[in-house]
Amino acid sequence: MSFLQSIQTQQAKSCAEVQAKLKKLKQKTPKNLDAEVHRLHDLYFEKIDCLACANCCKTLSPGVKDVDIARLAKHLKTRPAQLVEQYFELDADGDYVFRKSPCPFLLPGNYCTVYEARPKACREYPHTDRRRQEQLLDLSAKNCKTCPVVFGIFSDLKTMSFS
Ligand code: SF4
Ligand code: SF4
Repeated sequence: MSFLQSIQTQQAKSCAEVQAKLKKLKQKTPKNLDAEVHRLHDLYFEKIDCLACANCCKTLSPGVKDVDIARLAKHLKTRPAQLVEQYFELDADGDYVFRKSPCPFLLPGNYCTVYEARPKACREYPHTDRRRQEQLLDLSAKNCKTCPVVFGIFSDLKTMSFS
């Protein structure tokens, strides 16, 4: 079993437990949360290849802004309005989201057709290298279910003590 498969097996079993820990972290945030999350982010991304996973591209839609649409349209040599009509709808927050999942730009082998022009939210996912992780704990609890890296990071954090 590969490292990714082993994490995914644990993720299926213990995601709720790790999400409960994230709730507790919200009530009492450790001072060194950013440093620990960033360290584990690097560690897990060294071991997990997104091309072997692509679960985010298969199951979630990024929130896509007008600026992303403009960049994608330029890359695909089409008009923004045509791109929107073909692939997107608006969500409750006023962001564009893909009409269907998996993402229409996901290729066999988990490559992204529009990689250089992909939306900002795709570039930043799963957000575990951002500062102020204490503000992202709800998001991480959600992503814990989708992303094995997020699950791994917060699974390891749950056994640590902070000062
Ligand atoms: S779900 Fe996480 S590990 Fe999987 S492809 Fe997306 S970012 Fe990479
Ligand atoms: S645009 Fe690319 S990176 Fe973003 S969800 Fe689609 S396939 Fe994944």
